Amino acid sequence: MKYDRVRDVDPKVADALEAEVDRQRDTLAMIASENHVSEAVLEAQGSVFTNKYAEGYPGSRYYGGCEHVDTVEELAIERAKELWGAEHVNVQPHSGTQANMAVYFAMLEPGDKILSLDLTHGGHLSHGHHANFTGQLYDVEQYEVDPETGYLDYEALRDHAEEFDPDIVVSGYSAYPREVEWETIQEAADAVDAYHLADMAHITGLVAAGEHPSPVGVADFVTGSTHKTIRAGRGGIVLCDEEYADDIDSAVIPGMQGGPLMHNIAGKAVGFGEALEPEFEEYAAQTAANAEALGESLQENGFSLVSGGTDTHLVLVDLRESHEDVTGKDAEEALEDVGIVLNANTVPGETRSPFVTSGIRAGTPALTTRGFDEEDCRYVGDLIARVVNNVDDEDVKAEVAEDVQELCEANPLYE
Ligand SMILES: *Cc1c(COP(=O)(O)O)cnc(C)c1O
Repeated sequence: MKYDRVRDVDPKVADALEAEVDRQRDTLAMIASENHVSEAVLEAQGSVFTNKYAEGYPGSRYYGGCEHVDTVEELAIERAKELWGAEHVNVQPHSGTQANMAVYFAMLEPGDKILSLDLTHGGHLSHGHHANFTGQLYDVEQYEVDPETGYLDYEALRDHAEEFDPDIVVSGYSAYPREVEWETIQEAADAVDAYHLADMAHITGLVAAGEHPSPVGVADFVTGSTHKTIRAGRGGIVLCDEEYADDIDSAVIPGMQGGPLMHNIAGKAVGFGEALEPEFEEYAAQTAANAEALGESLQENGFSLVSGGTDTHLVLVDLRESHEDVTGKDAEEALEDVGIVLNANTVPGETRSPFVTSGIRAGTPALTTRGFDEEDCRYVGDLIARVVNNVDDEDVKAEVAEDVQELCEANPLYE
């Protein structure tokens, strides 16, 4: 990809844009929340819609000239309804965090109670972390995964809900490799008359393709990010039943956002359209199969996985047993040196700081987009092992960096 027009007016930014295309081509994007959108989504997101103010909703805007943005927002909504089977969809949240904010602002008062998973156990900042607005506006208590098994402890969650009497229970996670039992959590919320927000941010694509059970029609509210497994470009969405439609829509605008990012909504429409094609089901199935193959390869190489494996697009490696002296940060840095880009991640029962950690999280959505299969992912597991076993050995790292280059060249991106 060339950025000739940017180059004419701004060579510094053009250099950075071109360098980023090269970086994405020449490295393995294994951050579990990342993906590579199609060139069609890129084009829609980089379109003239960035010029247009469209406060309001299709057919009822505060500004004139909205006929074309209306067409696109309606397409995004219709396609999202079809993908996830929702009664009502709001496609305007700027990001997943803003989608969650819309639900909290619609249903809670400041001081109300949130019960959610602890960040270090796989939760998200926007679920009640003290440094986030959720931790500052609301009264938050958190549940955890079972430290022995790494699985959600649904019984403890139910007991915690009874004791704490929350106004909302939040499920859906950033670093949880296993299938989530939405019904069980809905029952725990119902038992204490709380709402249930299922934040499917990471697994929107897996849910759309039937690779993971759907929270839609089970949880009171479902939120998601659109740039992760669903591959529709940066943004967020809220899905709910018709009875909450007005509450959610008015929480988004005028409640917490101004003009919608219509160029991003155009990207969502195009990406959702792509996800309705039959090939997307194959993509989602391959993403999960690849994560399983990666996990098995890592285990064969002596690594322990939190929960012993995966049902999704990601694995969470606990380094404490296999590599006592290698922190998550050490592993992340050594892997980045060879072109494998993933992140250090806390593990259940974490003893190190969140900046250091004892784990790494690795996902397959982006690799699968560029054509990786199970065999490739097993091989990537071997490469990760060679690096983590030799974090300070520059010769080994130079060899692995060449192997990574070969993989990248065999699976080209943005040709
Ligand atoms: C990624 C993620 C979000 C949203 O993050 P944004 O960066 O705001 O899109 C929300 N919840 C969970 C569980 C996530 O993993």
